Amino acid sequence: MLLEHLNTKLKAIEAQSLTRFLRQAESRTAPRQIVRGADGIARELLMFCSNDYLGLAAHPRIAEALAEGARIYGGGSGASPLISGHTVAHERVAQTLADWFAPHIPQARAIGFCTGYMANLAVVTALGDEQTEIFSEALNHASLIDGTRLAKAKVTRFGHADVGQLRTLLAASQAKIKLIVSDAVFSMDGDLAPLPQLLALAEEFDAWLIVDDAHGFGVLGAKGRGSLEHFDLKSQRLILVGTLGKAAGLAGAFVVAHETVVEYLLQAARNFIFSTASPAAIEHALLTSFDLIEGETGVQRRENLVRLQAQLRKGIEALLARHPRLGWKLAASETPVQPLIVGGNAEVMQLAARLEREGLRVPGIRPPTVPKGEARLRITLCATHSAADVEQLLAALASAAADMDRVAA
Ligand code: PMP
Repeated sequence: MLLEHLNTKLKAIEAQSLTRFLRQAESRTAPRQIVRGADGIARELLMFCSNDYLGLAAHPRIAEALAEGARIYGGGSGASPLISGHTVAHERVAQTLADWFAPHIPQARAIGFCTGYMANLAVVTALGDEQTEIFSEALNHASLIDGTRLAKAKVTRFGHADVGQLRTLLAASQAKIKLIVSDAVFSMDGDLAPLPQLLALAEEFDAWLIVDDAHGFGVLGAKGRGSLEHFDLKSQRLILVGTLGKAAGLAGAFVVAHETVVEYLLQAARNFIFSTASPAAIEHALLTSFDLIEGETGVQRRENLVRLQAQLRKGIEALLARHPRLGWKLAASETPVQPLIVGGNAEVMQLAARLEREGLRVPGIRPPTVPKGEARLRITLCATHSAADVEQLLAALASAAADMDRVAA
């Protein structure tokens, strides 16, 4: 019965062109990857799909630091942090992050998690108790949404970047504790949340603001500290979540907040208490990653990202002007996430498949990850792309658009 039941559901997924596929990479030197296709043949692909925005995952100093960390600490951490999994390396990572964000969050303290998904679940479920109302942005990441589903709090959604609606909802709320929850950079759109306005509302209505800066950390701000630095925010009401698997080039995640909030997470967040601590070698290597992020490497790579973004946007805008009939749209993004909204599921998958045949990996993103009718190519830039790499993508998109425009005619 179960297998029949699941096969029916799998067929329905396929009928909507929503089937997802796992690829196997054989090696990597960002932004190129050797990937084995369904035919078993390995080919090199130029990737516009990684969240390794600074290209640090392949940095030789990171590889060396990982090896050194493994020699010092061994492999796995062997237990949850409160038993014996927490090491000097974990503590140094947390302390560095607390210091980095002290100018933004007075009395800042940091706590680590194995993934951003876990950190988001932890914060939202631990803080979202029965006396709390959570105000959740419509385009929040799945992990924040799952957190709100598990939390005991009342959950109220507000429209994307709809500060006016949020104000009305906050004004009407009777809850003792109010938490506003928002991505800082929306992962499928690349736009920034209006964080200064959200924080102003938090101050006005005695609420707290949980910011998921998965895609801003390392990328935004002169020192790469992310959205809080970009907007120059400062408040005790800020609860920052960041992941270390994207621009930091490794794995793991953190929450930085007022020390009392963090102490409560340590005592109460079930996925901190009941899950094995991240391997110490990764934590050891994160210290090198932090050096790279705030040093000359980070500065140069962030500058290159901005140049590549401008080049890509200019090229796509020219292409869209040549083919208005296609109805494609370039999202209004000022980050390395540059989505090209194509529309239909089948159409976007055809386009992605065509690019892949030409050696370019740009994933098609379909509902439910994005709204129906807004399937898109999620182009992500990496600081180690060259201008020639971006030209190659633009040329491939131009020839695909010309062919699709002819068919549409
Ligand atoms: N938040 C956002 C906005 C994300 O895009 C992601 C990852 N896709 C996460 C959280 C989860 O982070 P991690 O990959 O470290 O679990």
